[in-house]
Amino acid sequence: MTSHATRLWALDGAWFTVDTGLLVVNGSGDVTLPVPTFLIEHPRGLVLFDTGVVPQASVDPHGVYGELAEHVNIDFTPDKQVDRQIEALGFSTTDVTHVVVSHSHFDHTGGMYLFPQAKFFIGGADLPYAYWPMPAASVFFRTADLDPTRGFDWNPLAGDHDLFADGSVTVLSMPGHTPGNSSLMVRLANRTFMLTGDTVHVREALDNELPMPSDYSTKTAVDSVRRLAQLSAADDADIWIAHDPQDWAKFFKGAKAYE
Ligand SMILES: [Zn+2]
Repeated sequence: MTSHATRLWALDGAWFTVDTGLLVVNGSGDVTLPVPTFLIEHPRGLVLFDTGVVPQASVDPHGVYGELAEHVNIDFTPDKQVDRQIEALGFSTTDVTHVVVSHSHFDHTGGMYLFPQAKFFIGGADLPYAYWPMPAASVFFRTADLDPTRGFDWNPLAGDHDLFADGSVTVLSMPGHTPGNSSLMVRLANRTFMLTGDTVHVREALDNELPMPSDYSTKTAVDSVRRLAQLSAADDADIWIAHDPQDWAKFFKGAKAYE
């Protein structure tokens, strides 16, 4: 049976300014990019896709991230904390029943500790990798985000996973950026979205099938970019690249939901 999710919101979070060459092979020039999270309402639960950066970083970025805070030129205010963004929509953090973490990089794991009651889903290969990454990518992991969640209800995935077994919210395995990176397909009554996670970071990566220089596997990352495009085309889904500022400008965010 195919059903649909009821509403989808994009929640604003931190913003980074980095060299585009960090995000995509052959990229150049600075880009200021969003670090959003997404909230999806379904008759059987409230799903959070990614958790953003650590809330405390809105008051003490260097204390939380050290030099990384300066490297990414973090711009983050308390009203953008993931818990406050959820509360601004009239929900409580305890209403969240499912947390899907696209992958274990620090800008996706910072708020995980806020949802101890939720079921957690992640590409299974990402959990051990976060503790033992390749040296070139190690700066992107913060095990302090994972440590308080070790007793949570973790559901490491070995492949795709249909969250409510009705085709409405599907975690799609898109390895390459990290070993367990995932995207999320959300089917609404009037529209379907492919939320990329970090399968790609900017439009040119999608258009030209380009990896990120610090990806775990370039070959697998490009295979996943192709899979993302193919599945989106087959489902007539709008691709929403989480970190792409043009996508952020194009789609609804905050209180305005897609239905
Ligand atoms: Zn990432």
